[in-house]
Amino acid sequence: MSDKSVREVIIIGGGPAGYTAALYSARANLNPLLIEGFSWGGQLMITSDVENYPGYAEGVLGPAMMQDFRTQAGRFGTEFVNDDVTKVDFSEQPFRVWVGDDEYRAETVIIATGAVARQLGLESERKLQGAGVSYCAVCDAAFFKEKNVVVVGGGDSAMEEAVFLAKFADKVTVVHRREGFRASPIMVDRARANEKVEFVLDSMLEEIRDTDAGRVTSVSIRNLKTNEVIEVPADGVFVAIGHDPSTKLFEGQIDMDDAGYILTKGKTTETSVTGVFAAGDVQDHVYRQAVTAAGSGCQAALDAERYLAATHQGAPEEPLVEAEVLATPTNW
Ligand code: NAP
Repeated sequence: MSDKSVREVIIIGGGPAGYTAALYSARANLNPLLIEGFSWGGQLMITSDVENYPGYAEGVLGPAMMQDFRTQAGRFGTEFVNDDVTKVDFSEQPFRVWVGDDEYRAETVIIATGAVARQLGLESERKLQGAGVSYCAVCDAAFFKEKNVVVVGGGDSAMEEAVFLAKFADKVTVVHRREGFRASPIMVDRARANEKVEFVLDSMLEEIRDTDAGRVTSVSIRNLKTNEVIEVPADGVFVAIGHDPSTKLFEGQIDMDDAGYILTKGKTTETSVTGVFAAGDVQDHVYRQAVTAAGSGCQAALDAERYLAATHQGAPEEPLVEAEVLATPTNW
């Protein structure tokens, strides 16, 4: 393609996947445009200490880590648009991406818009995010050794998090709004069998204290059948009520699963639209870690680079197949 206004790569989303895709594609001289979103940084921006990202031996604050990711992507020439994408058109080449009235065009697009952990919607929850309120037990359980924690939810995530937290905490109270569980029976049984795990059913968290102290000290739990409110001492609250992938923009343009996650082919980041790739939590509802998102951003950049190399050489636009991807030599 010779039209200079058509970029080789546009990346949508400024989280670990998007910044890593930008880093790799910038170092491959693809001059990426990263439309990172007005609130760039993703879920790490509501996380305090990150101790499980390799390379930060002493740990790092989530926002500082995302600033590092951004700086590193910028160092190799990534161009940033610090705003939200408002519309896309993937129906023909070049692909078109709008930010308000500004239109950008590209031969490849990498979608890295992530997923958002559902929130309870309490003001106290918002104020204590990263200060005792967490959305990821794998990330934060180790901070609650010999403490009391509350898990909210009745799905598989809540059961899994409760059992995982019980390895560290003295007591785990699972609060669920119904008597029946969405979680599979085996996961519920596993949680029930753990002597550190207790259940408070038909109940909702009403308040998390203590916003004045800037840390979690207790929670108020209302029984939805009797209206009785109890106060339970707690050092941490893990909200495990599901995630929503940020894919509304792409509805009708790209194949997704029933929950709205973008479908990718095999071990590649290829989507149902040739030339559009997806990386990170937007296509992964299993691992959901910064490091897995970053790894998948790297894969998307490599997939896009390989696709561009093939199309620029006039090669047929064959879909990537796993064997070819694994055999592709890289020059990074
Ligand atoms: P989920 O299955 O959607 O469950 C969400 C839970 O949160 C439900 O129990 C729901 O209650 C509750 N909830 C939703 N909104 C709430 C609110 N505002 N206040 C209080 N409670 C609320 O989500 P998930 O547990 O994250 O699981 C997502 C998918 O991943 C599922 O398909 C699951 O099977 C899978 N997964 C599998 C594993 C595993 O197999 N190891 C582990 C984790 C997740 P209601 O039930 O009343 O709606």
